[in-house]
Amino acid sequence: MKNSFLADRMLGTLAKYLRFLDYDTLSADTLEPGNTREDTVLLGIARSDGRILLTRDRELSCRGGECVFLESEDAVGQVRQLVEEGLIDPDLTLRMHRCSVCNHVLRKAKQDEIDGCSYAPKDKAGKKFAWCPVCGRLYWMGSHAANLEEKLKEISPGKGD
Ligand SMILES: [Zn+2]
Repeated sequence: MKNSFLADRMLGTLAKYLRFLDYDTLSADTLEPGNTREDTVLLGIARSDGRILLTRDRELSCRGGECVFLESEDAVGQVRQLVEEGLIDPDLTLRMHRCSVCNHVLRKAKQDEIDGCSYAPKDKAGKKFAWCPVCGRLYWMGSHAANLEEKLKEISPGKGD
C-alpha cells in the first residue's frame, strides 16, 4: 500500500510535489495558524490517520511515531530523501490524479469546464484534462508539468544506467 503523508508548514512545495506523484498528502497549512500546541495536533492527526508526518523541525521528529525529519531545505532534495528511505516509489512519473492545492482526487474534466477555463491552453489537441471538483481547477500535462517531472527524474536512482 502507498504511504500517505502529513507535511508541516515548512514543506508546502514538497506537499505539492507529492500530490503530483499521487500521494495522499495533507498540509499543516490547512490548520488555523497560531496554535502553540500545533506539534501535538500534527502528531495526533498523523497517528489517527495513519500518515507519516514530514517535518523540518528536528525536535518534533524526535518525539517518536512515524515521523521523518527532512534534511534538505529544497523540495527536490526532500523527495530524494523519501526515495532513499523507501517511503515513496523511485518511479517519479507525475500522475495528475490529485489536486496539488487541496489534495482532492481529480476527475476527468467536462468539455464546458475546459472551454470555460481562462488559463486553458489554446492548443487542446491530444491533451488530457482533469478537474478538481473542490477548487474548480483545471489540470493537464503541459510544459510546466514536464519540467517538474524532468527535475524529479534527475534524482531517480536508475538514472545513468
Ligand atoms: Zn483542489
